[in-house]
Amino acid sequence: MGLSLEGKTCLVTGGSRGIGKSIALKLAELGADVAITYARSADAAEQVKSEIEALGRKGLAFQADAVDFAQAEEVINSITSEWGKLDVLVNNAGITQDNLILRMSEDQWDAVITTNLKSIFNYSKAVARPMMKNRGGSIINISSVVGISGNAGQTNYSASKAGIIGFTKSYAKELASRNIRANVIAPGYILTEMTEVLDEKVLDGIKEATPLGRAGDAHEVADAVAFLASDMSTYITGETIRVDGGMAM
Ligand code: NDP
Repeated sequence: MGLSLEGKTCLVTGGSRGIGKSIALKLAELGADVAITYARSADAAEQVKSEIEALGRKGLAFQADAVDFAQAEEVINSITSEWGKLDVLVNNAGITQDNLILRMSEDQWDAVITTNLKSIFNYSKAVARPMMKNRGGSIINISSVVGISGNAGQTNYSASKAGIIGFTKSYAKELASRNIRANVIAPGYILTEMTEVLDEKVLDGIKEATPLGRAGDAHEVADAVAFLASDMSTYITGETIRVDGGMAM
């Protein structure tokens, strides 16, 4: 049997653009109904919702700040009352605010840690009860290779992304007996709006450090997410899969 998500309901945080958008559309392509959240890009989010519906699936879009626990709970409640259950949560929303440690402000530290790490707590906690009631679920948290290998200028970002890996392993151990799996995807350098701000020299350096010799595409991250969302990965939990062209090997 091929990879199918027929009958599953999914939520992708930060699904309006970039990697999150690719993930949302891939899950819908494979047969799932897909809800997304976004922070500011209302038009882009509505467009993604329409594309999900054009694939013959149900779509929902919520404006919800990922740092706010009450808003996360509201989103999860709306989905479960609308669709009856939530099978798959993809914690994708994230930001960068790069700076060398000597210049990094407390605000830059707090913004990145809360957006990238507290958001994972918010949604993973809010979804635990509904998934227990549903007798299972799959959570996929989007980290980064810099959470594994570190990167100058990204102490805040790499701390948040390493934190995701520890969080996921503990969560996986706590909820394994309830048939809830939790895994991490650690992308390398993927072409999105987040990375298009990097200058040519930095990009050349990244390509040189990547054994496959090129940047990744968001759909290559989405493919790995689809696998972890599906019943093709039912014996995998607490794992981190790098999607990085071999960069952090
Ligand atoms: P983008 O900047 O292209 O998109 C970020 C998404 O997150 C948008 O949908 C944005 O919504 C949403 N978002 C940001 N802040 C919040 C918030 N407070 N509440 C809700 N939603 C929010 O990023 P990418 O697609 O590049 O990155 C996606 C994930 O992948 C991130 O976690 C990132 O750290 C990770 N990653 C990316 C890599 C890359 O090379 N691009 C490499 C490794 C990891 P809105 O449109 O409304 O602003």
